Amino acid sequence: MQTLQSYVVGQWQAGTSAGTTLENPTTGEAVATCSTDGVDFATVVKHARDVGGPALRAMTFAERAAMLKGLSAAIHEVREELIEMGSRNGGNTRGDAKFDIDGATGTLAAYASFGKRLGDRPFLPDGDGLQLGRTARFWGQHIRVPRRGVAVHINAFNFPAWGMMEKAACALLAGVPVIEKPGAATSLIAWRIAQVIVASGLVPEGAFQFLCGSAGDLLSHLDGQDCVAFTGSAATGRIIRGNENLVANNVRVNIEADSINAAVLGPDTDSSSDTYGLFVGNVALDMCQKAGQKCTAVRRVFVPAERVEEVQADLINELARFPLGEPTEKTTRLGPVAHAAQHKDVLAGIQRLSEAADVVHGGAEPPRDGCFVQPTIMLARDSEAEVLHSLEVFGPVITIIPYDGTAENAVKLVNLGGGGLVVSAYSSDKQWSTDFVLGAAPYHGRVWMGSERMAEQALPPGMVLPNLVHGGPGRAGGGEELGALRGLDFYTQRTAIQGFKSFVDGEFGSQD
Ligand code: NAP
Repeated sequence: MQTLQSYVVGQWQAGTSAGTTLENPTTGEAVATCSTDGVDFATVVKHARDVGGPALRAMTFAERAAMLKGLSAAIHEVREELIEMGSRNGGNTRGDAKFDIDGATGTLAAYASFGKRLGDRPFLPDGDGLQLGRTARFWGQHIRVPRRGVAVHINAFNFPAWGMMEKAACALLAGVPVIEKPGAATSLIAWRIAQVIVASGLVPEGAFQFLCGSAGDLLSHLDGQDCVAFTGSAATGRIIRGNENLVANNVRVNIEADSINAAVLGPDTDSSSDTYGLFVGNVALDMCQKAGQKCTAVRRVFVPAERVEEVQADLINELARFPLGEPTEKTTRLGPVAHAAQHKDVLAGIQRLSEAADVVHGGAEPPRDGCFVQPTIMLARDSEAEVLHSLEVFGPVITIIPYDGTAENAVKLVNLGGGGLVVSAYSSDKQWSTDFVLGAAPYHGRVWMGSERMAEQALPPGMVLPNLVHGGPGRAGGGEELGALRGLDFYTQRTAIQGFKSFVDGEFGSQD
């Protein structure tokens, strides 16, 4: 069986134990093992700080942007190989694997384009200069400079390619070396991408290190110039945020956790409209794409009470467009969930939702051998039942929840999720839509509004875009990533420079 290695301190290193076994979720067959036992994490951090950081900071923003562009092309060259890996270790259909891999190369390319405009100064001006004294002689200017530490990136199992590269793109462009740790259970794709990155020679030594296996005691070696960006479950997020060393040294931490995302059908959206077609199509897509294992996938669907039967029937019809089967079959649009533990969790989650909702389609009975789950629609018995708004079932499962059709009631119920990554609503009524946006925005990182005029061009709400922020308050972790150049903020220090105007403005001003 294949043994995946870590890339640390300039070499590939296998673990000293078998560690995690990676599976094929369709067949149950073991695919590879990975472990970081034996890795000296203190040396890994030191190598990044002493070797990778200085080398990256010696490059201009424009040079680092060119590096990202090269990485995007290098990874794209092995796309077919990565797609096959996504199916073998993750159960991805071809479409699912492309979503992850093209998301990675697309985000790298986007950051290459954002970065090439930043020029060759070793800092970024932040806003306009300010007169501070009686006259303009005493002046102030905010700037952003790369922090002198390392960026530790801990990722979830569901996006081994995109998750790793969207974080790496921001840190590397900012000038901060990265230590990447993917979710171990599906790390085959991430490991192959790491091989490509190292072999490309595009990233200076020490600026990209890769841990295939557990994070060990890595976090205990970080200090106040370092940062940790984590994506995963709320439970692990809490452990990381509470890590004694991170707290003691005020290490920056960004948490992207789980979220009970919602879709809301507006009362004005009749079933013959394009907006309704978009609603039904997007909900079914979110259920089946990546077998529902997207952090942004809709879990709760709010429908005006009198239209529940109609929506339920239309969603069941729409699901027929997503045949379940072997992920390698061309016709398959719903593969298995990624691994056995995940399978067990999803089936148990359906049982838990049954405390407050009835199964109206699918259910917890596995449809065949392997980690497959039937696409499942539940119907809430009590719209405010706690379990519906707090339990993330990370698979092809939604609950239809009736509401009274008002924006006020929709906002109240949606916000019971306690903070989400994205909420979508479908309405062409301007007042209803405005009330909904303003009510839902404080609790959500993104509010996606579907309506007649944009239906034809809309990218689905589950798709994270590099030029918009990703993250959400409260339950969703309280973090923020991407958002074009906003994504660099986490990796840079904002400093206010005060002094004589001609010096401050001449050296550090925006020069527009
Ligand atoms: P997880 O179990 O929380 O694991 C996430 C990562 O944390 C993995 O790399 C894991 O390593 C690592 N980890 C676990 N315990 C750790 C510890 N004590 N110290 C340091 N690292 C630790 O989550 P998952 O099952 O992989 O991912 C699914 C969850 O991620 C879902 O809840 C989903 O909603 C969420 N998610 C959120 C986003 C977002 O952007 N908000 C995106 C994708 C997924 P091992 O794999 O080695 O255990």
